[in-house]
Amino acid sequence: MYVSNTVLENEPQLVRKLYDRSKSYKEVIDLTLGDPDIPTPDAVKAAAYKAIDQNKTKYTANAGLTELRKAISDDVYRRTGIRYSVDEIAVTAGAMGALYLTAVSILNPGDEMIILEPHWPNYTNMVKMCGGVPKYVSFIGDENMKELSANIEKAVSDKTRAIIINSPSNPTGVILPPDTLSEIAAIAEKYDLYVLTDEVYRTIVFDGSFKSILELPRMKERTLLIDSLSKRFSMTGFRVGFVCGPESIAKAVATLQENVNSCACMFAQLASKEALEHSEALEKEICETFKERCFAMTAELKKSKKLRLSDPVSTFYLFIDIKETGLSSEEFCYRLLDEKHIAVVPGNAFNKAGEGYIRIACTVGKEKLIASAKEIVAFADGL
Ligand code: PLP
Repeated sequence: MYVSNTVLENEPQLVRKLYDRSKSYKEVIDLTLGDPDIPTPDAVKAAAYKAIDQNKTKYTANAGLTELRKAISDDVYRRTGIRYSVDEIAVTAGAMGALYLTAVSILNPGDEMIILEPHWPNYTNMVKMCGGVPKYVSFIGDENMKELSANIEKAVSDKTRAIIINSPSNPTGVILPPDTLSEIAAIAEKYDLYVLTDEVYRTIVFDGSFKSILELPRMKERTLLIDSLSKRFSMTGFRVGFVCGPESIAKAVATLQENVNSCACMFAQLASKEALEHSEALEKEICETFKERCFAMTAELKKSKKLRLSDPVSTFYLFIDIKETGLSSEEFCYRLLDEKHIAVVPGNAFNKAGEGYIRIACTVGKEKLIASAKEIVAFADGL
């Protein structure tokens, strides 16, 4: 039977392909999806149980509970010094909900969104689902980083509506430096563009230093801040995210949400409020865990004669240059899975710029990571 062009144009995700194939093995170390094994903090779970007990199991306002939006406003203010009113915030089903509904709110068919690649693959599909056109600019390697702003400006056309940045980045873990942010802000001002800043990993920064483009002068009016509780508090299954931006966009997201999922889950919103009210201690512990894991895994992988990677600075992903093995990203990952039963993601899952790399998600305990790093090194060096 018939399916729409939207379905036909939706790129199947290589991340999921590797994940699905890994399930055909009984014993496998799965380092594919960005869904860590760290449990949701007890206080957050307790708030969810309590909310269910109190029958907080209904619809909420499309924009989310006012008390949660207040907590988000305080949290963003604490981190950035920028204050949003509750009317400038819409709570969504994860950052994915915020990204998609924001894209629908700003793109007309044929409008372009500039995406820095390698990138989280959902951006491409979301833009296409709105009838929009993704335009890519590579930011991998020193050369591309040096030319980044010039290349972004070259990609701007009279159809461009927005630039999306994801810093710290999935898959690379790169944090965009302050100068680059200023240059991107200047381009956005010059061509009157929105900047979507996806900051779902901003609290997983190992030396603690992170600046949002939102903090730059005059950027509040054109920044759409996308964030969620998923990675920050190990709450991926709660599906709570949000967008902060001009009231017109927050309203649009809330209005459109009615037609998709009405609102984020009520008891998950209440648990999210609890998480945000105790955020500093909770996120510090999670960040420390990832830091220890990423450094341990990196130290082991650096023993390879063929794998190249830098010291981790953020997120829980390692993006590793495998070009010296002579295999393509996909060949490397499929063979590693079939021969060593370790599942990682080919870099080209994050668009063309990722070819020649693999991504490892440090989502299991340190000992398991070290053991799998030893196997990966043996595999790579034995090729
Ligand atoms: N943005 C990026 C860059 C991600 O890597 C992910 C999930 O992996 C998301 C957004 C989605 O987050 P959420 O689970 O809150 O929808």
